[in-house]
Amino acid sequence: MNVRTPTARTTMTSQQHIELVEQYAAHNYHPLPVVVARAEGVWVEDTAGKRYMDMLAAYSAVNFGHSNPELVAAAKAQLDKVTLTSRAFHNDQLGPLCKELAELCGMEAVLPMNTGAEGVETAIKTARKWAYLRKGVPADKAKIICCSENFHGRTTTIVSFSTDPQARKDFGPFTPGFQIVRYGDIDALRAAIDENTAAFLVEPIQGEAGIIVPPAGYLREAHDLCTDRNVLFVADEIQSGLGRCGTTFCCELDHIQPDVYFLGKALGGGIMPLSAVVSSREILGVFKPGDHGSTFGGNPLACAVARRVLQILETGQYQRNARELGEYLFGRLRTMKSPKIKEVRGRGLWVGIELHTAAGKARPYCEKLMHEGLLCKDTHEQVIRLAPPLVITREEIDWAFDRLAKVLA
Ligand code: PLP
Repeated sequence: MNVRTPTARTTMTSQQHIELVEQYAAHNYHPLPVVVARAEGVWVEDTAGKRYMDMLAAYSAVNFGHSNPELVAAAKAQLDKVTLTSRAFHNDQLGPLCKELAELCGMEAVLPMNTGAEGVETAIKTARKWAYLRKGVPADKAKIICCSENFHGRTTTIVSFSTDPQARKDFGPFTPGFQIVRYGDIDALRAAIDENTAAFLVEPIQGEAGIIVPPAGYLREAHDLCTDRNVLFVADEIQSGLGRCGTTFCCELDHIQPDVYFLGKALGGGIMPLSAVVSSREILGVFKPGDHGSTFGGNPLACAVARRVLQILETGQYQRNARELGEYLFGRLRTMKSPKIKEVRGRGLWVGIELHTAAGKARPYCEKLMHEGLLCKDTHEQVIRLAPPLVITREEIDWAFDRLAKVLA
């Protein structure tokens, strides 16, 4: 536990900060009542100097730890040089990032954006344009197949294929061109593919749905089916990728290479929003100047941080930590004799603890864990999700486990 000793506090209390948010911010989130003022590694500190272990890592955007010194140094160095050019001009970070990221993915080309949702939108446009230009699908007929319980973001097009009623309610009319099949059901996918199908869009593990791992062999079969039927297999690795599952990409666990990857969150090192669509030259080659873009997409500050992220990933140390400590954490959780736990599932350092409905919803347990110094987030009502920064140590896992055991006893 190497968090810095507390120093000067902000003058406002946590309660005052929460009241400001209540009064002036839109109420589109329901955060735990903790106000973080500083963070380092797996630890965060509130405005009064109380320390908590972060078991969410900003939904995997902080995979490499808060204030990772290598990433902070990369950002600081780039801040003094150039932060934004727009794509009207070249900058000296974009080309190297695209080369290095394409190589990491075993691909040929990269299209950088900012948020995850923009990455998803870009992948949808890529698949549609590929279908018209390369597959010969008639104009405006391209279909993308998505999975039940998916989570790919919050734009109007993305919520058009959400199966979560709250994500859609009062936001219509929706974008057509999507078909939903049951996640994990290969026969449903086979039946849904037709001559106008451009792509199958899938999370290798569904995070927001409750860390749902598909049946063994599903991803491989879906991948092979897509290849046979000339359909793009498009993997959303925004939350599952970049070390979280114990490998650089979750798809590696099934030994598959998608046609299109899209990445976000940890790609920007928890410092800058950066997402990217990564694919072959043939597929990303469908874009011409003026077809698509973003003022901040590919900005040199984000690219410089991401280049350091890729160097860190090349060492394999975080993937190894996620694998080894993930096994350790799962091992401990499975020995926990809690009448409240229905199932423990996940991969690497990505864990869903599903509670029996009789035990009540996950949120009150997250509140109790917060009082014990552990910040976790509920998802899908019954699931406590654990996704600590991948810098976590065995001793820190033991510390977290003791608190989980107490609250779930
Ligand atoms: N895809 C997946 C799998 C995600 O988990 C998320 C966010 O949680 C997104 C896409 C959207 O990313 P963003 O919130 O950066 O738009």
